[in-house]
Amino acid sequence: MKKINKDILTWVIIILFFTLIIIAYNQVNNKYTDFGEDAALPAELHPIVEEKKDILLKKASKIGITVIITEKVRSIKQQNELYRQGRVKEGDVVTHAKGGESYHNYGLAFDYALENQEGELIWDIHYDGNNNDKSDWFEVADLAKDMGFTWGGDWHHFKDYPHLQMDFGLSIRQLKNGLRPKAK
Ligand SMILES: [Zn+2]
Repeated sequence: MKKINKDILTWVIIILFFTLIIIAYNQVNNKYTDFGEDAALPAELHPIVEEKKDILLKKASKIGITVIITEKVRSIKQQNELYRQGRVKEGDVVTHAKGGESYHNYGLAFDYALENQEGELIWDIHYDGNNNDKSDWFEVADLAKDMGFTWGGDWHHFKDYPHLQMDFGLSIRQLKNGLRPKAK
């Protein structure tokens, strides 16, 4: 009798184990699509990122901040060109990502700037146009972070203040291998 109970228990554990693996696999499958290594790169922002970007602009506008999106999707070529800046080309280093290594390449990132009262595009992170003693730039970053964005200003190795991205839990390596977040 005892022997049978033990056998049953062993089987229950084995079945439970495989059920959990199947559930985990399906959850990954529900969130992502695997297009393989030759996966095409998007020409536009991911629909969810696009939608959230618009909501962010509205939220900022409600507290008196005009946000301007300066960059969305970048091709591999554009990314490589940008990588050259400040290295083999004149200018400041603005990215540490080569082609294929930026979330911009996968439509999952965009950059922002502000518009001041004179209607000029500015990158002044201390600007307080809505006069609430808080930096408008940081206020926008906080709104974005509340919506699930990662802000480049929080990075330690290289502060990228204009940069916002939504990675959906995918690493650059996974994106390179062709995994893409599903649209809905
Ligand atoms: Zn960026």
